[in-house]
Amino acid sequence: MRYLTFLQFLPQKPYWILECGYPNAALWKGDARLLEWFKLLDLQGAEYRPDGVTFWILGEKEDWGNIFSPGGVIRPFVYNLKKYLNEREEAVTPQPSPPEPEPEPTTEIDIFNQQKGWTASRFASYLSCWKPFAEIREVFIHHTVNPTPATWRGRESMLAMKRVYEQRGWTAGPHVFVAPDGVWVFTPVNKQGVGCVGHNDHAIHVEIVGNYEENALVGEMRGRTIEAFAAICQWLQYDPMFLLFHRDCAATVCPGKNIDKGFKHDILDYIILREAAARISVEPVRVNEDAALYKWARDKRYGAPLTNEFEVCHRIAQGFALCILSCTAGAFAFVNATGW
Ligand SMILES: [Zn+2]
Repeated sequence: MRYLTFLQFLPQKPYWILECGYPNAALWKGDARLLEWFKLLDLQGAEYRPDGVTFWILGEKEDWGNIFSPGGVIRPFVYNLKKYLNEREEAVTPQPSPPEPEPEPTTEIDIFNQQKGWTASRFASYLSCWKPFAEIREVFIHHTVNPTPATWRGRESMLAMKRVYEQRGWTAGPHVFVAPDGVWVFTPVNKQGVGCVGHNDHAIHVEIVGNYEENALVGEMRGRTIEAFAAICQWLQYDPMFLLFHRDCAATVCPGKNIDKGFKHDILDYIILREAAARISVEPVRVNEDAALYKWARDKRYGAPLTNEFEVCHRIAQGFALCILSCTAGAFAFVNATGW
């Protein structure tokens, strides 16, 4: 999309000139497909120079956006041209524009067709069936404020939120809601969601039902939320300590002051615990006297190793009789102990 280096509008209509740095002279001569492409564009003339090509287009195109574009290359030129010309026109002859009519909400948000809330393990198996819509770089935590766990009505609440988002003109919503009756998928995880301006195209957004500025996240809701985030982190190989709060990227208190760094630690501990529990060995564990975690456990008298060392969430971990030790690979001075 950076091919366009220069664009000039000539006052003597109907000539437009587009100048671009691509293709360069070498490509222009060598690529028959490009010649074909220029023919399709109905270009009236072109010349190449070592630093780029200039095209002439005769006449005014009514619908620039529909110009055929093999490889999708010309389309950005065309839109840029259109935008440039519009701005140019406005600057030359300022006209009072009629007030824009309120846009009719046209979005029909495609939500996941789920009849009841899922257990966390059902949610994890859903995730295992899908690839995320893009390379995920951020996983966000939100709270709904409304509905609350008390006013949550399952599918009815999901449909009510769909209507609210549609009225806002959104094309999608957050991906997941953790609710008192289970985990709900709103926007399927193989589609881009909406949750934070500028942070949607590589992010998964998760809502916790409730207001955690006012209330603490406790009991069953806390347990389920931790399980749901653990499933997402394991699905994406995402470090739970890198989970983002909506407030990290926007002027909002979301997901509320009662959801803090300790919550991320709880998710990490939960994942480590579950992985360690699954690895408890019935055979005696062979001990490497020099291994950092083993030495740490011996010094602190944490008892015999119950698992071999294993990797989890970009960390090395090992279960001992009294606790599970873990640390980031290489950072053996900062060992974390989690209870069983
Ligand atoms: Zn939020």
